[in-house]
Amino acid sequence: MSRAKRSIDWGFPRWRGYGSSREAATVRLCDRHGCEEPGKCPAPKAPNSPERWYFCEKHAAEYNSRWNYFEGLDAAEAKSRAQQEQRDNSGYSEAAHYGWAGSGDGSRSQDEVRALDLLGLTPDADFDTVKKAWRAKAKEVHPDVKPGDKAAAKEFQAIQLAYEVLRMAEERREWKG
Ligand SMILES: [Zn+2]
Repeated sequence: MSRAKRSIDWGFPRWRGYGSSREAATVRLCDRHGCEEPGKCPAPKAPNSPERWYFCEKHAAEYNSRWNYFEGLDAAEAKSRAQQEQRDNSGYSEAAHYGWAGSGDGSRSQDEVRALDLLGLTPDADFDTVKKAWRAKAKEVHPDVKPGDKAAAKEFQAIQLAYEVLRMAEERREWKG
């Protein structure tokens, strides 16, 4: 009996180390200096570069919130870039899940992230935070407060629109459960 056991052990040494060595090879650490979290979120290094950083969720959100990826691109270029990103990402469930344009956990659309940015919020802001930021900003530029101020009126509209985008997204999420 002990002989059979031994032959399994020695005959198939890969049974033992397989899982652990494989895991070690595929786990990639966050590219943010000093961070020990797994780097699961690809983020473009530069607008015209296919190269990617790989960050943990927290650092990907931080990176995305500080850098306007579309800076310096005209509207058409930005659009084709967005489409290209989507195509590139669709091959990997992970990359699609952690798309650069969304939040760290992939639950935010590109529009939502833009709307959040307009309200001065990061992608991980919850809806209560959104409401507070929206109210505070809307008060500042409300037509009653700044009558005849065209710039303020325009900003007021943009803030309303941003809030509407986020409110509808929140409702969609609630319906989905
Ligand atoms: Zn990190």
